[in-house]
Amino acid sequence: MSKKSSNKKLYETLTSKKESAWNYLDKKKVFDFCENYKHFLKDSKTERLCVENVIKVLKNNNFKNFNTVKSLKTNDKVFKVFKNKTVVAFIVGQEKESLNIIGSHVDSPRLDLKPKPLYEDSNLALLKTHYYGGIKKYQWVNEPLELQGVVFTKENKKVNINIRDYAFVVPDLLPHLAKEQMKKEANKVVEGESLNVLVGNIPVNDKEIKDQVKFTVLKHLNMKYGITEDDFFSAELELVPRKDPLDIGFDKSMIGAYGQDDRVAVFTSLKALVNVKKSKKTIVGLFVDKEETGSEGDTGAQSLILQNFAEDYRNLLKIKMPATKILENSKSISADVTGGLNPNYKEVQDVSNASYLGFGVSIEKYGGSGGKGHTNDAHAEYISEIRQILIKNKIPYQFGENGKVDMGGGGTIAMYMSKYGMDCVDVGPAVLAMHSPFEVTSKVDVYCCYLFYKAFFEN
Ligand code: MN
Ligand code: MN
Repeated sequence: MSKKSSNKKLYETLTSKKESAWNYLDKKKVFDFCENYKHFLKDSKTERLCVENVIKVLKNNNFKNFNTVKSLKTNDKVFKVFKNKTVVAFIVGQEKESLNIIGSHVDSPRLDLKPKPLYEDSNLALLKTHYYGGIKKYQWVNEPLELQGVVFTKENKKVNINIRDYAFVVPDLLPHLAKEQMKKEANKVVEGESLNVLVGNIPVNDKEIKDQVKFTVLKHLNMKYGITEDDFFSAELELVPRKDPLDIGFDKSMIGAYGQDDRVAVFTSLKALVNVKKSKKTIVGLFVDKEETGSEGDTGAQSLILQNFAEDYRNLLKIKMPATKILENSKSISADVTGGLNPNYKEVQDVSNASYLGFGVSIEKYGGSGGKGHTNDAHAEYISEIRQILIKNKIPYQFGENGKVDMGGGGTIAMYMSKYGMDCVDVGPAVLAMHSPFEVTSKVDVYCCYLFYKAFFEN
């Protein structure tokens, strides 16, 4: 053997290789899996709808509602819903004092209605909104929107609103008159108070009525839903993109859809949970709300949701170990998306430490910003355990950072799970155009997430 070829062999052993996950996985399996995922996305455009669909899948797989459970034993499948916005689902394993937990979030950026949203201006009826989460406001104009949510009437009757037959829209300014607008900084091009949505144009033909177009809308709402203007006070109504998920590309290799952050992780970890064949340890799917606004509030990951679940769990199993100790003994994954390398904006990424679409699950040891602030930096010991799972199960993976140092950054629920002392690391797919009304993922990465979450549960 020549010196050159032995060097080449050694080179291959010593250096990190990058190869598309498409070269390793069965395309048919990937595409079939993603058809189900697209259906799930289409029907899960709000946190409430997402939770409803999570529960449907759990019930179809013989998970029992926690409220009906008096005691627990090995192999029992149970789910607990909190305020219609978070779910903890679990399967009791042989080893009960240490859990394998995968946490994801059910909420996505959107436009919420204000408490007093309806008004009339210039012969148009409009709804005022207050955006939710980190959005680039200019992306939400000219976007067909659907209205989803709940209203409670004066008599405390719950009314579900689900409007998809027609759309609503925030109309942008025409370029002909946008000379001043175009000079503004991007975050001022469309202001929060300008995100008012068109909802009507026909006046009631009655000179005695002041706001004739607004009145027509109120009449319609009262006839169709039995609600009055004051009922908006006790409502949660969300405007979300009307577009349903679409295949992207000549090869249909990608998915364009609203809300993939983080329903991609909700769906893949849920599928993993219900399809697990055998697990030694108790496995837990945690689906939380409010991640996009900092995980605060009673349904966010900063609440005691995980600890309260662990209390219930140990009481039902008559475990002596304290709930917080069980959580400390646990291992976890923060299942969330990361920003993939966008060829149109390479300057924000360190290209050798970025995550690429189509290269499998992306693992982020830490997130945050400003010198690793505001994040959980997973320990090398734990990363090594995760690598063992990936290698053993032949799952394509990549390690990355979310952007160049000091470029910006973002958080996940990893730091809130890790506060109990449990190991936690972020694992999810890379996404393009994150937080926009139309986020893009690669189907192979979505499938790799499912494979990894399942392998993690089974470990
Ligand atoms: Mn997320
Ligand atoms: Mn997000």
